[in-house]
Amino acid sequence: MALSPGELAVARHLLIHGPSTRGDLGDRLNLSYASTSRAARALIEGGMASEALVPESVVGRPRQVLTAVPGARHVVGCKLTADTAYGVVCDMFGTVRSTARAALPAPAADGAVPVEGTAKVIAQLTTRLGRRVPTVDGIGVALGGIIRNRSMVREGTFLGWRDIDLATPLGERTGLPVTITNDVTALAREQLWFGAGRTHSTFGLITVGAGLGFGVVREGVAVEELIDNGHLLAHTPVDTRGPQCRIGHTGCAAAYLNRDDIEHHASVAAGRAVTFGELIRARAAGDPTAAHWLDGAARALGHLVATFAGALQTSCVVLAGEDVATLAGTPAMNDVIADRLRPGRDETQRCALDIITTPLTFNDWARGAAVVGIQNALGAT
Ligand SMILES: [Zn+2]
Repeated sequence: MALSPGELAVARHLLIHGPSTRGDLGDRLNLSYASTSRAARALIEGGMASEALVPESVVGRPRQVLTAVPGARHVVGCKLTADTAYGVVCDMFGTVRSTARAALPAPAADGAVPVEGTAKVIAQLTTRLGRRVPTVDGIGVALGGIIRNRSMVREGTFLGWRDIDLATPLGERTGLPVTITNDVTALAREQLWFGAGRTHSTFGLITVGAGLGFGVVREGVAVEELIDNGHLLAHTPVDTRGPQCRIGHTGCAAAYLNRDDIEHHASVAAGRAVTFGELIRARAAGDPTAAHWLDGAARALGHLVATFAGALQTSCVVLAGEDVATLAGTPAMNDVIADRLRPGRDETQRCALDIITTPLTFNDWARGAAVVGIQNALGAT
């Protein structure tokens, strides 16, 4: 059952910042003592929180400390790629209790992965994962593309989907509330509660992997649907002498940074097929050509970080995704950012950027979906 606004505020604070006294909660959340106590009582009665006396010091009075109960809710999170469903089941703190994966049905003649078959696979994963926890309270599904109203897949990038309702068949099969989210938005919402959002109310998220993804959190709220699906940032000009992206820009960030584009350019230059993984290994072995492509990608990423931070007016940018560890924090990226931050002679305003790097596996993406499911189960927007 969804919580009242006061209960949600208290539960959210306990989940994000840990145990707290009623007095501290009231101060932090700007709630009266009566409201805080009412919310605390309701959460305790609902099994969502517990309260215990904690001795403060030798002489002080013991304090009543409220703590969220991690196992009060469990949610299955599922990340869909073109051919696989990666599943996790998480408790209220977003801690992964178990993982499982299953193949998606093969695409039909029209290139689209069958929707009913996909719902069946996710429902079966939910049953498997549900055996590892007392109950499952909801399902969060994340996929690349454009999602409307947390249920309609307007554009499913890797699944060949257009205007597909996945939430209804999955809800009918499982009897559980279902939330469908863009995968990068899901990560942004996960970071809002359990990552960068703990210290920054506004931050940007860039994912680097099979594609470039962007997530935005403004003043404590995750932007559910970007106006351009990240297009404007992805195609930011970097160097007018650079390689071409797939839509014909010369030297945009995507041309340097998309894994497909890097592999395409490196393959054309080498006269044979070259993969991103090969470039990483070749650079480690001292190959200057591989270093050229990867440094170009890292510089483009540095420009994206600087541009995103400036446009969003945040000092915090989170870098995530399968390929980010190869590029983030390299001298090529750091030099670009330092240069972009370097003030002019008469400029007095200085800023520093807090760049957080979190390499991700598919299970981490699934965890993002689960956290959205937890937020949905608690009634958080
Ligand atoms: Zn472009």
